[in-house]
Amino acid sequence: MELYSGYVNRLVSELAALPGIGDKSAQRLAFHMINMPPEKVKRLADTMIEARSRVKYCSCCYTLTDTETCPVCSNPARDHAQIMVVEDTRDMSAYEKTQKYGGVYHVLHGAIAPMLGVGPNDIKIKELVARCSDESNPVSEVILATNSSIEGETTAMYISKLIKPLGVKVTRIASGVPVGGDLEYIDEITLTRALDGRVEV
Ligand code: ZN
Repeated sequence: MELYSGYVNRLVSELAALPGIGDKSAQRLAFHMINMPPEKVKRLADTMIEARSRVKYCSCCYTLTDTETCPVCSNPARDHAQIMVVEDTRDMSAYEKTQKYGGVYHVLHGAIAPMLGVGPNDIKIKELVARCSDESNPVSEVILATNSSIEGETTAMYISKLIKPLGVKVTRIASGVPVGGDLEYIDEITLTRALDGRVEV
């Protein structure tokens, strides 16, 4: 015999399929939602649907944005010749919070991870190479700010081999960033130090 109604079971299993949510949290959330006023549940559901349908990749740096190009790429005061390569949009916002970086970004949406079946073509690497080869916006420096995990290092090495032959200076952020640490959890001082201490590779 099923313990809950079929609808509750479905809600629990949908929630449990989300990252970082185990069975217990899924049950707690499901019961919370069922006890919420119907208009609040509708607002939550509508917000999810709207975000999913309206948010897209910036046509230049591939971060998530509501507009054709993101606020950073469309800002003429930023240095468009300096590109910082990060694994995801959260890393980009971590660097933006420091307010110490005046260049633009390139968001890979992942890192090369052969064990997980993620190859160079599964992340936005060829898009980065295209940006570095675009003569209408000459690039002077590519800063590799991928995580210091094995995947992040592999990705940085792979990209530097592709970009250096194009005559672009390639640098790697300093290893003050804890090994395996996600960039978004690192404090602003550490991030600024990592950026200032970058070395040419
Ligand atoms: Zn952008």
